[in-house]
Amino acid sequence: MEGISSDFLVIGGGIAGLIFAIKASEFGSVTVLTKAASDEANTAYAQGGIASVWSVDDSFESHVDDTLRAGAGLCNRAAVETIVRDGPEAVRELIALGTRFTRVEEGGEDEYDLGREGGHSHRRVLHAQDLTGREIMRALGDAVRARPNIRMLENHVAVNLLIERASNGRPGACWGAYALEKSSLAIRKVVARATLLATGGAGKVYLYTTNPDIASGDGVAMAYRAGAPIANMEFYQFHPTCLYHPAAKSFLISEALRGEGAILRLPDGTPFMKRYHADAELAPRDIVARAIDSEMKRLGLDCVYLDISHRDASYIVNRFPNIHKRCLSYGFDLTVEPIPVVPAAHYMCGGVMTDLMGRTSIPRLYAAGEVAMTGLHGANRLASNSLLEAAVMGRRAVASVRESLRHDSAAPAEFPEWDPGQAIKNEQRVMITHSWEEIRRLMWNYVGIVRSDRRLERALRRIQLLKEEIHSYYWDHLIDSDLIEVRNLVTVAELVVRCAMARKESRGLHYNLDHPERIDAHWMHNTVISGGPAPALTSATHPA
Ligand SMILES: Cc1cc2nc3c(=O)[nH]c(=O)nc-3n(C[C@H](O)[C@H](O)[C@H](O)COP(=O)(O)OP(=O)(O)OC[C@H]3O[C@@H](n4cnc5c(N)ncnc54)[C@H](O)[C@@H]3O)c2cc1C
Repeated sequence: MEGISSDFLVIGGGIAGLIFAIKASEFGSVTVLTKAASDEANTAYAQGGIASVWSVDDSFESHVDDTLRAGAGLCNRAAVETIVRDGPEAVRELIALGTRFTRVEEGGEDEYDLGREGGHSHRRVLHAQDLTGREIMRALGDAVRARPNIRMLENHVAVNLLIERASNGRPGACWGAYALEKSSLAIRKVVARATLLATGGAGKVYLYTTNPDIASGDGVAMAYRAGAPIANMEFYQFHPTCLYHPAAKSFLISEALRGEGAILRLPDGTPFMKRYHADAELAPRDIVARAIDSEMKRLGLDCVYLDISHRDASYIVNRFPNIHKRCLSYGFDLTVEPIPVVPAAHYMCGGVMTDLMGRTSIPRLYAAGEVAMTGLHGANRLASNSLLEAAVMGRRAVASVRESLRHDSAAPAEFPEWDPGQAIKNEQRVMITHSWEEIRRLMWNYVGIVRSDRRLERALRRIQLLKEEIHSYYWDHLIDSDLIEVRNLVTVAELVVRCAMARKESRGLHYNLDHPERIDAHWMHNTVISGGPAPALTSATHPA
């Protein structure tokens, strides 16, 4: 199969990957891999918007404080300050590239409409109605198509990174990746002088998730296998409200509904949030998610209900046109009835550790966006800070690559073509589908919103067994995208469990019944697992 060579390889075509590709194309050739169609990414599903200091009433200090407060003591202050301060420039660049954020008439002036979301003390969320992500993807997609230096390869799944052998005690560099072309099942070698991981999150590790199918944590698993440190995987954010319907696999019902007065009810109509928090429906999102989880477990419910039908129908339709339309397509009319909702895995705060230039510990390997752990989110993500982080870090990684390749004349190491050895055709699909289902269900039941030592131990035992089975299956069979994903998913599941077991306290998004208190004296640091042949669990504190 024909190999590919370019200056830069970008694995992932969401906001982080596309911004990097667009800017890197100014000084080199770029190959972008997306494992499905190019518009299928977490970015495309973002409804709320992108947080950035924009109005004169707002300040960087205020955005920094809000972010640090949400992060429950674990944010890296330097990361927070850098990303917040770079925010307006990154947003201006999105606008320059064609993103049309919603505008309003304000005192006779035509201004960007700034939304306010939970945890933000100012209005600072730029949005495109409730379809912000789609609009950003449209604009970036157009910009990519207009640049001949960028080659998009859709339906190509990165399998493993090309890592040079270590020499003189120095870790081996990354020179690209092997990628599976889904239509032919052929594996191509994609060689590049620098590689960006921009593969997004791993929501698919849980039974219920707001994430699309691409979110199987491939970037984290690939980097871990290559030896990069992975951190804070115990902090998985659950969105309180995802539509509960078998066909609506991952449809999120924005928190803005609760912001506009929607009430959470049990099946008999009883509201319950007042019992959990004085702010009821406006409590922080992790408290709302935990309350719903607790009511569902207490009463053995499949879902609870969200009710905004007391508000004026025309207001609902205008404010939430997309949510209203999608709910109607599943047979629910927001304007007249409560809709069924469940909490769902939403955002991976942990990931591949990077510095503030997007560098991982592996030379020539960068990471940006949800796959990366810069220290911005700490133990909990502030709403709408993730698009911000992805846009800022995509740009910073380009600056860093440009600088380090300026005088680089090293020749790529030699890597063999992919050799399937004695692998046979994969004819036992049930093995993959069953493992996939089992991982997601056990993660949901034992490593979900509320954890305990016993549940985590039980989860780890089962995951290790599944991992052995999946790995031996992987080596004996010709690979396809399902097999690649399930192998990555079991690795990510293990990383989440190991990080969760290491943290003997409750903080931010991690809640353990056996250690319900936050213990600052011992736990003001990240849980870090270094990958490679000899994985080790350590901890690290960000520089102040
Ligand atoms: C429903 C929903 C609503 C959200 N709302 C908001 C919001 O309002 N504000 C906010 O800030 N954040 C929001 N988020 C989070 C935010 O959208 C994501 O964190 C962000 O878009 C991630 O961008 P990314 O570029 O890192 O990854 P993604 O946009 O997820 O892109 C990942 C890319 O990697 C590719 N990929 C993955 N694995 C491979 C592989 N092995 N080989 C090749 N390609 C691969 C995929 O095909 C895809 O192109 C929301 C998320 C969801 C799911």
